[in-house]
Amino acid sequence: MAKTYVYNFKDAKGLGKDILGGKGQGLAEMTTIGVPIPEGFTVTTEACNLYYQDNKKISDDVRKEIFAAIKVVETQTGKSFGGNKNPLLVSVRSGARVSMPGMMDTILNLGLNDTTVEVLSKETGNERFAYDSYRRFILMFTNIAKNHGRVELDKMLEEAKEKKGVKADTDLDANDLKVLVKRYKEYYKTVFKEEFPIDPYVQLIEAITAVFRSWDNPRANIYRKMNNIPYEWGTAVNVQSMVFGNKGETSGTGVAFSRSPSTGEKALFAEYLPNAQGEDVVAGIRTPLSVEYLQKTQPSVYNQFLDIIKTLESNYRDMQDMEFTVEEGKLYFLQTRNGKRTGAAALKIAVDLVAEKVITQREAVLRVDPKSLDTLLHPSFDPKVIKTLKAIGEGLPASPGAATGKISFTAEDAAKRAEAGEKVILVRAETSPEDIEGMVAAQGILTMRGGMTSHAAVVARGMGKCCVAGVSSAQINEEQHYVTFDGGKTKLTTKDTISIDGSTGQVYLGVVGTVEPEMTGYFATMMEWSDQYRTLKVRTNADTPKDATTALKFGAQGIGLCRTEHMFFEKSRIFNVRKMILAETLQAREEALAKLLPEQEADFYELFKTMKDFNTTIRLLDPPLHEFLPQEESKIQELAKDLNLSVEQVKNRISYLHEFNPMMGHRGVRLDVSYPEIAVMQTKAIIQAALRVQKDIKKPVTPEIMIPLVLDVKELKYVKDIIVKTADELIAKSGQTMTYEVGTMIEIPRAALLAESVATEATFFSFGTNDLTQMTYGFSRDDAGKFLPDYYSKKIFEQDPFQTVDTQGVGKLIKMAVQDGRKTRPTLKVGICGEHGGDPLSIDFFHNAGLNYVSCSPFRVPVARLAAAQAAIRAEDRSKKN
Ligand code: PEP
Ligand code: MG
Repeated sequence: MAKTYVYNFKDAKGLGKDILGGKGQGLAEMTTIGVPIPEGFTVTTEACNLYYQDNKKISDDVRKEIFAAIKVVETQTGKSFGGNKNPLLVSVRSGARVSMPGMMDTILNLGLNDTTVEVLSKETGNERFAYDSYRRFILMFTNIAKNHGRVELDKMLEEAKEKKGVKADTDLDANDLKVLVKRYKEYYKTVFKEEFPIDPYVQLIEAITAVFRSWDNPRANIYRKMNNIPYEWGTAVNVQSMVFGNKGETSGTGVAFSRSPSTGEKALFAEYLPNAQGEDVVAGIRTPLSVEYLQKTQPSVYNQFLDIIKTLESNYRDMQDMEFTVEEGKLYFLQTRNGKRTGAAALKIAVDLVAEKVITQREAVLRVDPKSLDTLLHPSFDPKVIKTLKAIGEGLPASPGAATGKISFTAEDAAKRAEAGEKVILVRAETSPEDIEGMVAAQGILTMRGGMTSHAAVVARGMGKCCVAGVSSAQINEEQHYVTFDGGKTKLTTKDTISIDGSTGQVYLGVVGTVEPEMTGYFATMMEWSDQYRTLKVRTNADTPKDATTALKFGAQGIGLCRTEHMFFEKSRIFNVRKMILAETLQAREEALAKLLPEQEADFYELFKTMKDFNTTIRLLDPPLHEFLPQEESKIQELAKDLNLSVEQVKNRISYLHEFNPMMGHRGVRLDVSYPEIAVMQTKAIIQAALRVQKDIKKPVTPEIMIPLVLDVKELKYVKDIIVKTADELIAKSGQTMTYEVGTMIEIPRAALLAESVATEATFFSFGTNDLTQMTYGFSRDDAGKFLPDYYSKKIFEQDPFQTVDTQGVGKLIKMAVQDGRKTRPTLKVGICGEHGGDPLSIDFFHNAGLNYVSCSPFRVPVARLAAAQAAIRAEDRSKKN
């Protein structure tokens, strides 16, 4: 049987959102439960996909179905489409599987032409209403169906009002509107070199085409990417007979939420605009009144309205966002959907619905978008203020939060000014490890280059510090200390203040007021519930006791990654680090390492003590050594002096260490192969610290020593043997008993491919998905931001693979490595410590790949706890179905 692409609302029950879209499904459902809605039909998402497959054409078969569906609506309403009597007018609106507010297009009053407008005018006895509807239709058709800017048409409306000396649209009478209609049509003819289409069937096909086309407009594409909505879902189109809220004082239109979308409070939130069409509300042309107006003027309609809202909420068992229209005293609902809400509202509504026995705890856990928790963990800009502002630039929302401060162009300057009590934002082309001091001191970090795993982004997230990365439209001059936004129109210096929003990526000029996060009881309840369902453990990536403490507060169950190199940058140690790097003999290197040992040991002591008996994974030194060396002439001179070397010698060593491809160069385990004394020093620091803490807290501490960038079991064994020899000697000497583990990161595809043999020497694997993604794709995690936008716009990629794990390629390696590793060592512990460890979609994948834990930055821990619970519930539901 041929597939059906068009369904009348009454025949669409049970087809689901995938086919009907959210709005279509809501309309079908409302028809079933007896809520008054205007008659109509849905053109399915499959028709949208067919449209794209057919070279952006609606096929003859689908056209036939659409025309047949119109005939049915004519019968249902007793009206005729384009007829001389009782004309049927329709709205044409998009409706994807999940709502994408304001992203796609809507056309109202379709079916009007010079004939039907007159019939409508006569039959309703309301000429003004008829011509106002016609005017709106021509405007929307020109703007949306013909994809032409509305500026000129808006100007004509303003001119008409000016000429008459009135302010409101409603002050224009029928004759004024007739003149406008004439002008609009003349304009249409001039622009498109054809008359405005009078055939309603032509109008309809053009409008449906426009909605399908809008699935691929830039706004929708950006929204989809932000919200992980696949392109292949397509949008449905709903064609619905028009009801009119602009037929006079007993008519009107409004929107309602069954609970507050911003706080979740169980109270109706509704706005109403008498004598208006929905478009007026959405476009903010007129300010709506409270729904009390309806209560006062039409109490019986108001009571019916309240009853329906109750019915809808209990039917959907969730907060509803509804649109309604009253036409001459008769109430219609135009749509209902699960309302969008803030993180705070999502928590309260879910927990309240459990208390009201409407949903189960399990369902409540699935109701909250883990990402929405982000905003609850950081201060955020006051949404009321943001509404009134225009951003001067936009980058990636790299680390959530809100920060305001004066611009600082160097780390040194930031640190100095912060110490003097000034609030600064560190603004850099991109950051490097040398900027760490400035990053710590700054309120927030803004970079012009780099993606979600750039240095700035990773370090900022680790610190829980606000960061906007990769504002590519801005130009920075780091030497002359200025930055320009708005295509060069706004030039800012160290004297200027900016505000950056790490949750949206927006950059604003000046100070923007913030609101403090509220860690309400609902948050704690949701976390408690989540922990009952999840099987994945959640650890944190933390390098300092401060980060570790934050993470513990958020419920972390250990440290999955401590990047030891971050400890090397502190002022007191960098000198010895540099000395170690510049050493040309083993003896000189060992001398420098000996100076570093007590400092590293002190760091680890604090860290183990903070984590108590939770597992702590410490990674041996990873980055290429030259990252620790200065680049500026003055610093090189200073270093030469400190080390009693000539500038020439220092420069020679720096140039010897220079690498063309440092990410694939002398780093990770390779450093320990070349300089085993580094592994010896770090092992000593780890084991000695653990022994001391064990003694102090009187509980066993089991350090996990992790070797980065391994690609072969022999290489792993070589370094592991050094670690084991060093550790065993120290433990034996201490007279204590202590177990420790040696494991490896899996971040080079070869290691994943050879997991079976690698697992003979490793008791745990931790996937470093930042490097694993970089090496699997063969493009740099720091430079991919330059060309990935081309891949998005050409639909080659839909997602940044550094943000959400690539389940096809990287994911295949992960699954294989888990299985193969456990063939050798069934007890192999497997985790992930790349940035994907805090990404909900990736967490779902990791759960199903059989990992034991994810590790993420401290502020992502609650997000990961919830996402892990959702992954477990979804997997269980799937297995029950099969
Ligand atoms: C990784 O590669 O995923 C990782 C965690 O290590 P880093 O980001 O420090 O290279
Ligand atoms: Mg790595």
